[in-house]
Amino acid sequence: MKALRRLLWGLGLLALAVGGFWLWVIWPPWGQAGSPSPAPAQPRDVAAYAPPQHVPSIDPPSALTALSGAPESCDGGDAPETAAAVNAASLTTLAWSPFGKPETGWEIYAPRIAAEIGTTCAPGSNGFASALARWQGAHGLQRTGVVDPAVFAAMLVRWHLARPFVRVNREGTCPGAPPDANLAQADPKESYGGKAIRLRPGALDAYRRMVSEARAAGVLRRPESLMIYSGFRSPDADAQRCARDNNCQGLIRTICSAHRTGLAMDVFIDAAPGFGPDSSADANRLVMSRSPLYRWMVVNAPRFGFVNYVYEPWHWEWTGEPLLPGVPIASLPQAGSESVTELPEDSTSRTPAAASGARNRR
Ligand SMILES: [Zn+2]
Repeated sequence: MKALRRLLWGLGLLALAVGGFWLWVIWPPWGQAGSPSPAPAQPRDVAAYAPPQHVPSIDPPSALTALSGAPESCDGGDAPETAAAVNAASLTTLAWSPFGKPETGWEIYAPRIAAEIGTTCAPGSNGFASALARWQGAHGLQRTGVVDPAVFAAMLVRWHLARPFVRVNREGTCPGAPPDANLAQADPKESYGGKAIRLRPGALDAYRRMVSEARAAGVLRRPESLMIYSGFRSPDADAQRCARDNNCQGLIRTICSAHRTGLAMDVFIDAAPGFGPDSSADANRLVMSRSPLYRWMVVNAPRFGFVNYVYEPWHWEWTGEPLLPGVPIASLPQAGSESVTELPEDSTSRTPAAASGARNRR
């Protein structure tokens, strides 16, 4: 009897220890280290990428290795029988809200998903479903071969965490802005609409190497293709605009925008008639996602160190150098951010089309 009680006691202690360790592992690092407060000021987009259902890895997409092999067969495969048909239908009909506002279908995200799972097969094919099933298996998910909100959410976690800016933001920190002397100026021919564009020199060099390969690949189909329309944006200018408009349209964008790093750029991908190149209207983003340029970018830009915010096909961040030391987001001017529920990265255009979509970005 005594031995049994000792055994139960031991098991209880073990369960506590394992549980405690598990909590320590999964606890999201919102708080400042050593902070006594259990609920410090948090970025408002926590729901977008935390806490994940499974432990995400941030290894590079399998696309780069998978795509370099022999041509894949898109007809066969080992996905569940109905998966391809389900994907073919849901591609344009799925009713869901991947970024907080209702959307129909997932075609906008199909190129990025294809790159993630390492396939060049069409979204409604068996080859695509099989590649997705393999990806699901490798990431601890059920091998359905079907694109659904859960599998997209799992990918989104990886894509968010592939952005150093997001990783830093997630800890409540806004990275520093480089001094003017540490910024390089883009050539006028690289700038869309004649704007003065400044970036960190390394980011500009990488951009130029990428443009040169994109040109060689034949994906620059318009004169404006890959022209930059926003680079470095000074935190002061963003904060002033935020207060003036009394509308930050997103905590991250104006209070702490990736553009303050000098490593983020908005480039011309494509635009539907009547829309600007940064309009987040679904019809406009769909045109971008169908463009050969965007399809080339999702596969090839990572080779040059660029990562994309998938909601904004035009927004790319260069990861080739560390972010500068920053400050707590909570310490930055908060004026104008009160009514925000969603988090756009960008809002450089004031066209009606852009304004209507901007409210609900990310
Ligand atoms: Zn941007």
